Amino acid sequence: MSDCLFCKIVAKEIPAEIVYEDDQVIAFKDINPVTPVHILLIPKKHISDLTAIESEDKELIGHLHLTAVKVAEKIGIAKDGFRLVNNCKEYGGQVVYHLHFHLLGGKQLGTRPS
Ligand code: 5GP
Ligand code: ZN
Repeated sequence: MSDCLFCKIVAKEIPAEIVYEDDQVIAFKDINPVTPVHILLIPKKHISDLTAIESEDKELIGHLHLTAVKVAEKIGIAKDGFRLVNNCKEYGGQVVYHLHFHLLGGKQLGTRPS
């Protein structure tokens, strides 16, 4: 998707602070962090939002979650814990329409999502 912001980050056309990358996924720091640790995990494949995933993406979505744990361990927040969030479409507060998970941590978070 040539006009997708996160595809441009995947293609290195827009800079990002990348903390992990492999052939399927990339993780980079959010430009406007809401917690001390705020990392975005995305598939390199363009998928607009969580409702657009298909059966063939099962392995990819599992890999994204394993990567979230790996990144959390690398950054040192796995022991205390963290939050993994997906904002899906308008009512979910999604702004960038390339599937992504927010890895949030580094402080005690509230017990309920708002
Ligand atoms: P959403 O609301 O779609 O779940 O979250 C999109 C996230 O992308 C926001 O937290 C926002 O700060 C982040 N973001 C938007 N533009 C950029 C950018 O150019 N670079 C990075 N690293 N993050 C971005
Ligand atoms: Zn994209």
